[in-house]
Amino acid sequence: SVTTRFAPSPTGYLHIGGARTALYSWLYARQQGGRFVLRIEDTDRERSTDESVQAILDGMAWLGLEADEAPVFQTARFDRYKALTQQLLDSGHAYHCYCSKEELEAMREEARAAGRKPMYDGRCRHRQDPVPGVDPVVRFRSPDDGETAFDDLIKGRVVFQNKELDDLIIARGDGTPTYNFTVVVDDYEMGISHVIRGDDHVNNTPRQIQILEALGATVPVYAHVPMILGEDGKRLSKRHGAVGVMSYRDEGYLPEALLNYLVRLGWSHGDQEVFTREQMLEHFRIEQVQKGAGAFNPSKLIWINHQHLQTMDPAQVLKHWQWHLDQAGIDLSQGPNPIAVIESQRERCKTLVEMTEKSRFFYEAPTAYADKAVKKWFKGEAQAVLTDLLEGFKALPEWTGAAAHAVVHGVAERRELGLGKVAQPIRVAVSGDAVSPPIDETLELLGREQTETRIARAIE
Ligand code: GLU
Repeated sequence: SVTTRFAPSPTGYLHIGGARTALYSWLYARQQGGRFVLRIEDTDRERSTDESVQAILDGMAWLGLEADEAPVFQTARFDRYKALTQQLLDSGHAYHCYCSKEELEAMREEARAAGRKPMYDGRCRHRQDPVPGVDPVVRFRSPDDGETAFDDLIKGRVVFQNKELDDLIIARGDGTPTYNFTVVVDDYEMGISHVIRGDDHVNNTPRQIQILEALGATVPVYAHVPMILGEDGKRLSKRHGAVGVMSYRDEGYLPEALLNYLVRLGWSHGDQEVFTREQMLEHFRIEQVQKGAGAFNPSKLIWINHQHLQTMDPAQVLKHWQWHLDQAGIDLSQGPNPIAVIESQRERCKTLVEMTEKSRFFYEAPTAYADKAVKKWFKGEAQAVLTDLLEGFKALPEWTGAAAHAVVHGVAERRELGLGKVAQPIRVAVSGDAVSPPIDETLELLGREQTETRIARAIE
């Protein structure tokens, strides 16, 4: 059965590259009816922080990449690493190495002088006696000849010559395990069948395979995902505006849009650009992920966000929008049904932040009018126009967008004015600015009482 994992090191935000790797792992597990687990690789205590753990958990929750089990923390598993180190020592796959720093440095110098790659030469493999006063490291005994190969789902067959791989330290002198060893022990004991991770780990894979084999474990299938570059072709970083996943929430993106953008970065399905979660699950194939690195394109992400805003069930949009409304202190009980506002606004709002800014007036009367809008639209006949409109609105037996629009039309006709010269002053009066959804929709949503009060205030 399939089990995949996402194994971030909690040393910073959950970034875009990590989120994409997590998405691919999650999709694969869900497609195969398998399990998806989260492992926090926090053995580097200097660099790991609780805030980063929280940022990773928040990011995964926001993206909806739910794991099937509680997260596994490596720092809770030191006894397992110890036990399996001992197992390898007992089976002869590992040995104690007492070499001093100076000895290792001399070894490296010698190799360099002879034009060879500096590698540990295995001299402690046959050492009989411990060296007094030295806490030995434990090294894995790598095979000297032959090759270690694997069929990567993305990269194809990858082959390493064993003579290029020296005897890796799996436990330090103080007994703590090293990175490659903890990954191996965990992938083994967590029953990971498919390791989907960044391709910066390709060179670790042969060593991990050798250790897994020495432990008698089944070697998982590997899929190494290429990295994400900035538009300038350099590795994606903060300079490119790449930030933690939660910043995308703050900037008004839908998690569905970010996932859609990430799934498409390095994978395609015909010329389809917009994918719902269900469509990703249906069409994504890990084997079709491109070998080359993808480039991060912020304007495409915005475009995709806008597509999702327009096509998603408005009740779902509201779930995400609510957070922004709360941040902005907008109280929905003081105005129209937000579902109707979403339906009216989403064509011209690319992000939820934009939707928040442009919808505030539905819930709060403007406290000021934009200067430019006043100069342009509260001039000439505007006061008289607004007075006519107010009168017309008051006379309406029933308040609908169509009825309000008929009044607007009537005033324009009587005064022989273009529609804009009538509609714009109302817009400014009710919203404080010269942009809003179509005037009939705006007025219907805003309701009779607010419309009349706000126009009355504008002509005071
Ligand atoms: N903790 C590693 C990282 O953040 C990932 C290790 C793995 O997936 O095997 O790069």
